[in-house]
Amino acid sequence: MIRLTSTVLPFRVNEYVLELIDWDRIPQDPIFQLVFPQHGMLCADDERRLRRLSGDGGDRRELAACVAEIRAGLNPHPSGQRELNVPSHDGAELAGLQHKYRETVLYFPQQGQTCHAYCTYCFRWAQFVGDADLRFAAPSPDRLLDYLTVHPEVTDVLVTGGDPMVMTAQRLRAHVEPLLKMDSVHTIRIGTKSVAYWPHRFVSDKDADDVLRLFEDVVASGRTLAVMAHFSHPRELSTDVARRAIARIRGIGAVVYCQAPLIAHVNDSAPVLTQLWQAELAAGAVPYYLFVERDTGPYDYFKVPLAQGVEIFQAAYRNLPGLARTVRGPVMSATPGKVVVDGVDDTAQGRFFRLRFLQARDPGLVGRPFRARYSESAAWLDELELDLPTTAADIATAMGPQR
Ligand SMILES: *Cc1c(COP(=O)(O)O)cnc(C)c1O
Ligand code: SF4
Repeated sequence: MIRLTSTVLPFRVNEYVLELIDWDRIPQDPIFQLVFPQHGMLCADDERRLRRLSGDGGDRRELAACVAEIRAGLNPHPSGQRELNVPSHDGAELAGLQHKYRETVLYFPQQGQTCHAYCTYCFRWAQFVGDADLRFAAPSPDRLLDYLTVHPEVTDVLVTGGDPMVMTAQRLRAHVEPLLKMDSVHTIRIGTKSVAYWPHRFVSDKDADDVLRLFEDVVASGRTLAVMAHFSHPRELSTDVARRAIARIRGIGAVVYCQAPLIAHVNDSAPVLTQLWQAELAAGAVPYYLFVERDTGPYDYFKVPLAQGVEIFQAAYRNLPGLARTVRGPVMSATPGKVVVDGVDDTAQGRFFRLRFLQARDPGLVGRPFRARYSESAAWLDELELDLPTTAADIATAMGPQR
């Protein structure tokens, strides 16, 4: 079934990740669930069709058509992120850039659009099966520099993918170093899963020292270099090499922030999340975001309803030392902005979710609390019934496309 499911969903693993798996506990093992396509990710009907077409005498063309059809049914391009936030300059769309929040631009270098291993829950999975248009990615930072020149309000560039750390140090430098000419850029973030999937990138790869030298140059220029490390489970921090990677990154004066989505079968447990955030703190990294999974790929398999998510998050958070309470969640990165579920309130009018914008297209909304009717099953903003005072018309407007 793994082989069949991986005809539809991307699958990639390496020797390091294989060793993180507890093979005595498969298939439930969380790291196994994190990278190996599973029975149950596709609906029973689709599994049956695949099995029939890939058996003896199956027609290859028919199989390919079936795979394409199943993929198309798995919402391969959730929330139109790319189309919605692509900025333009001199009337031309700028490939490889996304500008959603005033101070931050996302930058997608063309050669950084794969990963060392693939997460089964990845919301960018379509690009790994060749189903997405990679022309969105930037071959060089030239257009980014043009854009930054006319947008001095952008202080923060987030280099992301895929995983930019699949690039050689030399390539990465070609994308990052030119940014140091821009006085308006104060912070460079690198979004990466490499510390979890290939920590050797910062320790023993032949250009590991060159990677650190690049980071060091960013810091020496007076800027903040933040490695936004994706850690899904505490086991990813259990190896010496992972902790050494973090120590080396911190050693040159960069900061490591950690984030992950909340995923059924992987980390939907308060004790696991407590351990994760404690392990991050112990490694000298900063717990940052716990995201709500988006509706894409095998979403029904992974989704955690908001009611359950907020309960798990809060139970985990209560057990943390104060310094690890930098983590925020569960957070939905939705069209109008990042919305956190702060808790559940019982009132005379009934039960409600307490919500708040952590980030918003409209900076005036940031920090504003609002509420929605409690629901056992809702797993995303568009499934919530907002309860807004008439004075919150701006929130209602921002939510427009969500409802
Ligand atoms: C999360 C996010 C950012 C960064 O937001 P911070 O709250 O500053 O970490 C920027 N752009 C997009 C599209 C994001 O989703
Ligand atoms: S590391 Fe990120 S981009 Fe890569 S497969 Fe995992 S979730 Fe997707």
